[in-house]
Amino acid sequence: MTTLMTTDGVSITLDDETITAFRSALRGDLILRDHAAYESARRVWNGNVDRRPALIARCAGVADVQRAVSFGRTHSLRLSIRDGGHSAPGYGTNDGGLVIDMSTMKGIRVDPASRTVRAEGGVIWRELDHETQAFGLATTGGTVSNTGIVGLTLGGGLGWLMGKHGLTIDNLISADVVTADGQFRKASASDHPDLFWALRGGGGNFGVITSLEYRVHEVPQVLGGLVLYPLDQARDMLRFYRDFCATLPDEAEAYAALLTAPQGIPVGAMILGYNGPIPDGEKILAGARQFGKPIADLVGPMPYTARQMMLDDPNATHGLQRYWRSALTERLSDELIDLLVEGASKFSSPLSAIIFFYMHGAAVGVAPTDTAFAARRTQWDFDLIGQWVNAAESASHIAWVKSLWDRLQPHLLGTAYVNHLSSDDRPEKVRASFGQNYDRLRQVKRVYDPTNLFRLNANIAP
Ligand SMILES: Cc1cc2nc3c(=O)[nH]c(=O)nc-3n(C[C@H](O)[C@H](O)[C@H](O)COP(=O)(O)OP(=O)(O)OC[C@H]3O[C@@H](n4cnc5c(N)ncnc54)[C@H](O)[C@@H]3O)c2cc1C
Repeated sequence: MTTLMTTDGVSITLDDETITAFRSALRGDLILRDHAAYESARRVWNGNVDRRPALIARCAGVADVQRAVSFGRTHSLRLSIRDGGHSAPGYGTNDGGLVIDMSTMKGIRVDPASRTVRAEGGVIWRELDHETQAFGLATTGGTVSNTGIVGLTLGGGLGWLMGKHGLTIDNLISADVVTADGQFRKASASDHPDLFWALRGGGGNFGVITSLEYRVHEVPQVLGGLVLYPLDQARDMLRFYRDFCATLPDEAEAYAALLTAPQGIPVGAMILGYNGPIPDGEKILAGARQFGKPIADLVGPMPYTARQMMLDDPNATHGLQRYWRSALTERLSDELIDLLVEGASKFSSPLSAIIFFYMHGAAVGVAPTDTAFAARRTQWDFDLIGQWVNAAESASHIAWVKSLWDRLQPHLLGTAYVNHLSSDDRPEKVRASFGQNYDRLRQVKRVYDPTNLFRLNANIAP
């Protein structure tokens, strides 16, 4: 007998024949608690998420996904979908339910002639970039190399190429999806256009993606790197940064952070990038690099894949403890900056960070209702990231994030980038983050997932 949890939190038991029949219906592994791979398979990027699913279906292809979805629906199981495992609230795993684990579906095919790539639902950005860069191509991907392509894409997709080439969803051509009824559907501008619209910003609410097809662009060597300042210059640096962002052409990117340098000192950083001829980028970024008295200027030409890994350590490391809060903001007021620098002077952990992603250019040049991603405004995605090693110290690190967050709230919008919503965010903030598209998203949800089988996400109740 196996005890499982339903979507409504009710405990049920399934007999051994039912589990055995499910196992033999799959080409991939069905991992239960006694399986050698269980401990690693149940874990996700955020080590502070310590959950124990009853069943992990490691899907090998579309047929496995269809069978896993149907099994989950038939028994009304609590259900997670997992690609890169980077969901900060840990939606890729659960207690007592079924995990549809896509992480071994790694197929990638680049078509250099049509400048497209198709990748399966378990691919992470590092793998996609590796294949596309073999042809000198890339599409907008995340700023850390081991985030899953699917989770990131479904929420919108912010990254180094977004000013020039738009969000990741703006490069999505089609998606193969298994919806809650177990049916395989292709979603594109001409096939199930309502579903295709919803997948571009509506998160993991509508089905399990088995593959995605993207447009890719010529991306040769790029300019990238950090300019670091001691914390006592960070107030001025952030004020300069705010004004510098307004001058950026679409080819340039500027993020900013407060973090602890490897030498153990808190620093301010401008994280700069340019996607175009290197001499042009040198000129455009010169103003930022000449500002103040930096302790290090690490900006230089580099392969695109190197820039994609530049922020990996420690952010990409699986298993560290995390607590993350996030909001969008159209203004970096002096008051907000002062609060942040004061907060950084009291980091409870040297691994914690405060980060701004600037959204501009092609990323905001699409109408808010053209895709489900409503937040098409020039603005910053702001993230307060608590990161630490020792689980026993969690309470004090979470308290540091929460107390700073409470003071910042009045200076931030009551919305967030959907992929950065926290499990502590209230339903009103989740709804507000989908903005004017929320009602239409609900209509699409009613068609493709009327019982809300896919609810471990930034949920849109049908
Ligand atoms: C270190 C770090 C850096 C990040 N940087 C960026 C960034 O630069 N830009 C950005 O836009 N976002 C960024 N994010 C946020 C990231 O986009 C989200 O956390 C995203 O959900 C992660 O996707 P995943 O597949 O790795 O996560 P998972 O935990 O595997 O999945 C998260 C959710 O995505 C959905 N999902 C995943 N796979 C599938 C599938 N095959 N079918 C259907 N639904 C699926 C499900 O709803 C699932 O619950 C970052 C996150 C982290 C932790």
